[in-house]
Amino acid sequence: MLKNVYKCYKITMFWEEIELIIYSDEYTKKVKNEIGGKNYKYNINTFGCELNINDSEKISGMLEDMGFLRTDDYNEANIIIFNTCCVRENAEERLFGKLGEIKRLNEENGTIVAIGGCMMQEPVMVEKLKKSYKYVDIIFGTHTIQNLPENIYKALIERKKVKDVIDIDGEIVEGIPVKRNDKYKASVTIMYGCNKFCTYCIVPYVRGRERSRAPETIISEIEELSKEGYKEITLLGQNVNSYVGNDKVRNFAELLDEVAKIKGIEIIRFESPYPSEFKDDVIDVMARNKNISRVIHMPLQAGNNKVLKEMNRRYTKEEFLDLVDRVKRKIPEAVFSTDIIVGFPGETDEEFEDTLDIVRRVDFEQIYMYIYSKREGTIAAKRVDQVPEDIKHKRFDRLKELYDARVDEINNRYIGTIQEILIEGPSKNNKNMLTGRTDSNKVVVFKPNEKKTKGDLVKVKILSNHKWYLEGEII
Ligand code: SF4
Repeated sequence: MLKNVYKCYKITMFWEEIELIIYSDEYTKKVKNEIGGKNYKYNINTFGCELNINDSEKISGMLEDMGFLRTDDYNEANIIIFNTCCVRENAEERLFGKLGEIKRLNEENGTIVAIGGCMMQEPVMVEKLKKSYKYVDIIFGTHTIQNLPENIYKALIERKKVKDVIDIDGEIVEGIPVKRNDKYKASVTIMYGCNKFCTYCIVPYVRGRERSRAPETIISEIEELSKEGYKEITLLGQNVNSYVGNDKVRNFAELLDEVAKIKGIEIIRFESPYPSEFKDDVIDVMARNKNISRVIHMPLQAGNNKVLKEMNRRYTKEEFLDLVDRVKRKIPEAVFSTDIIVGFPGETDEEFEDTLDIVRRVDFEQIYMYIYSKREGTIAAKRVDQVPEDIKHKRFDRLKELYDARVDEINNRYIGTIQEILIEGPSKNNKNMLTGRTDSNKVVVFKPNEKKTKGDLVKVKILSNHKWYLEGEII
């Protein structure tokens, strides 16, 4: 049963029935009445992927509507929020490390501590918090973000402990206010959940089944963003190309085509697509719309067919290479980035060689490398043939060496080219220079030009390669 469903509709999206919940501001007003004019502040800490970052923008939107002001210093916050991730083990360590630090604030100042996100969908984590971190005031899951105003009211005004976690396949909540982190780039979630059940991954258990937002809602959100001056949009989902629309905009390719027509949006990205669902219709839409980024993040995970099968990835090495070829034939300037997991249970040295082989062949611009770590509740975690830590680390180092050796070669290809770059602001390391990213996500620094400022799209000629960034000049 859903708790606190304010308005609830059943809508039919092709063959699926999805519960649509419209956000209510009833408790937002109640909290605002209580804290209005008192200069209450919130501090938010986000772990994990772009979807979590997008959820945190919604959490911030609700908090600011309630009257809280944002602070980066948790010492001065009245409420501290953690939006957690459970995909990797180190996020847990980081969370518990931080919780130790803020216990004092809770005890001395009555600071409200709220923990939400994927990790709270794991019963073992909730139990751990209730047993060892009793001072935590609010625990909320991935399906109950919209109840935050009510939960804050209970914790802040009624001084109650709140646990609001439900385990359902999912619904869609529309109308949550959003406070975006950036003025020019925005992420828009187009679908939630995952049906793939890769054997190493916890996401399908904590985010529910795949469900897509209505295309009209997505398009009108992006039109609004364009009116507000946003120039770059990233369409988000665990598997964006599993998107299911309606009879007008039927699938991801058609949605992408519609988004590409929205005036004012100059760069469109999407993440992440699933390789075996990356069909020719998406490639065709990309080929004819120049405002769709030519950098494609295509998670490979492993290069060996036996390992891929055991991971429950639904493609082979050969099919992945064929996909890369099909994209390159229609979009020669396309480049790829990827995710790779090293040391999946049972992976042998020979099987790992297949991963190195595909890395050499695809020429990835960027590789996000991960050492396999067990996630309780997944099939792979139960396997008895776990790869010893030292071997996993050796394989990781070999992959990193292979990639690092190629970074210079990849960067040198940019020298002399003209790149279109959205100015992000002053460079962190040199305030006299501006910074931005190439379409393929390379950091570029360049001298300011008095006519161009943050949020402008400029043409930059690349002059030199400094391994982790490129330097250029506005032309
Ligand atoms: S596709 Fe696989 S790795 Fe990606 S979220 Fe779904 S289960 Fe996890």
